[in-house]
Amino acid sequence: MKTIDKIYINGAFVTPKGTEYFDLISPTTNQKLGQVRLGNTEDAVDAIEAAKEAFKSFSQTSTEERIVYLQNLKTSIEKRKQDFIDIMIEEYGGTYLFAATSFEYMLKSFDSAIQILHEYSFTKTMGISEVQMAPVGVVGIIIPWNSSNGFICGKLANVIAAGCTAVIKPSEMSAQQTELIAACFHEAGLPKGVYNIVNGLGDVVGAEISSNPHIAKISFTGSTAVGKMIAKKAVDTMKRVTLELGGKSPNIILDDADLSKAIPMALSAAFMNNGQACIAGTRLLVPENKLKEVKNLILNIAPNFTVGDPKNKNTVVGPLVSQKQYDRVQNYIQSGINEGAAILVGGLGKPEGLENGNFVKPTIFTNVHNQMKIAREEIFGPVLSIITYKSEEEAVAIANDTTYGLQAYVSSANEDRAHKIASQINAGRVQINTINHDPLAPFGGFKQSGIGREFGILGFEAYLEPRALIR
Ligand code: NAD
Repeated sequence: MKTIDKIYINGAFVTPKGTEYFDLISPTTNQKLGQVRLGNTEDAVDAIEAAKEAFKSFSQTSTEERIVYLQNLKTSIEKRKQDFIDIMIEEYGGTYLFAATSFEYMLKSFDSAIQILHEYSFTKTMGISEVQMAPVGVVGIIIPWNSSNGFICGKLANVIAAGCTAVIKPSEMSAQQTELIAACFHEAGLPKGVYNIVNGLGDVVGAEISSNPHIAKISFTGSTAVGKMIAKKAVDTMKRVTLELGGKSPNIILDDADLSKAIPMALSAAFMNNGQACIAGTRLLVPENKLKEVKNLILNIAPNFTVGDPKNKNTVVGPLVSQKQYDRVQNYIQSGINEGAAILVGGLGKPEGLENGNFVKPTIFTNVHNQMKIAREEIFGPVLSIITYKSEEEAVAIANDTTYGLQAYVSSANEDRAHKIASQINAGRVQINTINHDPLAPFGGFKQSGIGREFGILGFEAYLEPRALIR
């Protein structure tokens, strides 16, 4: 059994001062995979001090130097593709396809940051002033377990490009992924202290990062509830915050959409990463007169959504990350039943033969109205709600009737029509007839899905402070 007992501070693997351990449990079998020794507040402070010291010289590096470092970081992970995929599958039950796609996005994060640095001017003229875009300082990166290394790369690439330094706190549940990426990055040979990685609990290491006065900015991805706690703490020292939070994304199928394409895409959008994705399209808005056709199509396609061991390449839906998450999702399915929604596919309990892991039957509800709990709250499991609408105006109203605003999807045979609808949806990203991403497009939420944007030029600029020199 594996014990992970090192964290990465000031360019070296060190034993945490914290002495507590956290068990790593396989989502597929619920067997113990190993344990991770957790950092404590002192470890967080050590990492912050190292990053603060490193900032003094790293903030002065040239664009060319940063490009070399970014390239080295990319190279360090590139050759370990299979190891990254295997660990994602083992640790959180991600499917092969999801893990492989996540790995490609990890690489693309560095490509995007390099491209930005090639094009970006750190000095601008505004009015009669020279405006310098200065690195903000030490960044606290706090991330969730789902696609953990994807978030580390996505955030760190822009942090490095901006000339900032970082303290990274991954989820304690992602310790194996963290161990691998830390080993790879170490080979990249960045100056010591530029990035530090501390395993630990949210209310210990995360809380120190959120309140420590030497952290200038927090870049957080996780739940809306934790995001609010972090923002409250951060305000005392006026830290800049970027918060990437939860979602309840609508997927509007317009009445002219090619359903043979739109429905399989909708199911992929709903069940990606076993439904554990902030951008999951969990509310499928269907024209009332197309409901029968949609239901028939789903009944034909749903059997292809094979649930099972994520190590098997044919598996489309793997287990949920933890027993706790399994119970939570079961409670939501029960609540849908209690509120009068009808089960089209799936339902309560585990699929036959998969009783040992945290497997949920991909569940699709019809007869859902937008005020039901399953239509309002983020479930973070493979549960899709079908809601019907009578007019385009009603579809847009339902799509926007949510406290979230991270992502939306629109399908139509007519791009102009889809574009018009997309432009009325209060979400940070709207995908038109596609579920592919653009790594250079800004990512983030309207409303309670967050504050600020990541990725691309807007994400990069979020790590910079304008300094105007007026003569
Ligand atoms: P979470 O909010 O429970 O935890 C996220 C991180 O915050 C973890 O590292 C955790 O240890 C830390 N944390 C917990 N309490 C803290 C505290 N008091 N102070 C500081 N840090 C603390 O989220 P999770 O369960 O790991 O992930 C699922 C959630 O993440 C979902 O709500 C999902 O929508 C969201 N998410 C958002 C995005 C996005 O980009 N918008 C992407 C993926 C996941």
